[in-house]
Amino acid sequence: MAPPEETTAAHAAAEAAAIEENLAAKTTGDQPISTIVIVVAMQTEALPLVAKFELSEDLDRSVFPKGVPWVRYHGTYKGLHINLVWPGKDAVLGVDSVGTVSASLLTYASIQAFKPDLIINAGTAGGFQAKGASIIDVYLASDVAFHDRRIPIPVIFDLYGIGARRTFSTPNLVKQLGIKVGKLSTGDSLDMCPQDESSITANDATLKDMEGAAVAYVADLLSVPTILIKAVTDIVDGPKPTAEEFMENVVAVSAALHYAVTEVVDFISGKSLSDL
Ligand code: SAH
Repeated sequence: MAPPEETTAAHAAAEAAAIEENLAAKTTGDQPISTIVIVVAMQTEALPLVAKFELSEDLDRSVFPKGVPWVRYHGTYKGLHINLVWPGKDAVLGVDSVGTVSASLLTYASIQAFKPDLIINAGTAGGFQAKGASIIDVYLASDVAFHDRRIPIPVIFDLYGIGARRTFSTPNLVKQLGIKVGKLSTGDSLDMCPQDESSITANDATLKDMEGAAVAYVADLLSVPTILIKAVTDIVDGPKPTAEEFMENVVAVSAALHYAVTEVVDFISGKSLSDL
């Protein structure tokens, strides 16, 4: 058996070659998708996917800056190089590093390191029953925007703050999977103050999360197509307190999310961006 350093070096070289190969193959979208990055915010969301795709944890972590808590799982599933990244636990407080700041940094670093053809942001979200959402529903986000970046300087700064954008269009995937489609509004709070509520209404959102628009912003900046799959853990306009309802449902909803992400990845396998 080769000494561990050699194994690591050979592994690193093979991986670098795969990234190069993927870069060289990058086209207008007609070639089969080769590398995807799945960004998740919480360990509970990550683990069922790690098991399903039989990914292994990158214990070396040299692709990320030294000392960051970010975690990467990787492997090959149905011909796709999958990198599943999770921002890990906060170094001081030990909780999942949720929110836009961690998600943005991790997305940036992952695009730089893995040059993916496609990003999938998978996670949980609050849903609005007035817009037809129920617990455990899984949605594909057609649009994203922020609801807590208020810059009341008309006409352009206010729009910059809202940061509305369309996500990568996947009509065939939506049709094939019969998945619900809705708009997603992102902010850094789990609760909702009256100002956030009116922004969410103005954003016409069905879903509310803490990462989606940030991931989409970074991916757009670096021209990587992004799809967002969100499963509903709590009803924002319902009677139950959000944090309580979230904790009650997060495990079951993560399972539903894992089924939906698997269906999406199975659909993507062997297809090009323009097939989606
Ligand atoms: N108590 C949790 C904290 C999770 S924060 C813990 O133990 O780790 C909520 C996470 O779920 C975020 O990643 C966010 O994107 C998503 N989320 C679910 N419901 C949400 C809601 N109603 N509003 C905002 N984010 C929500």
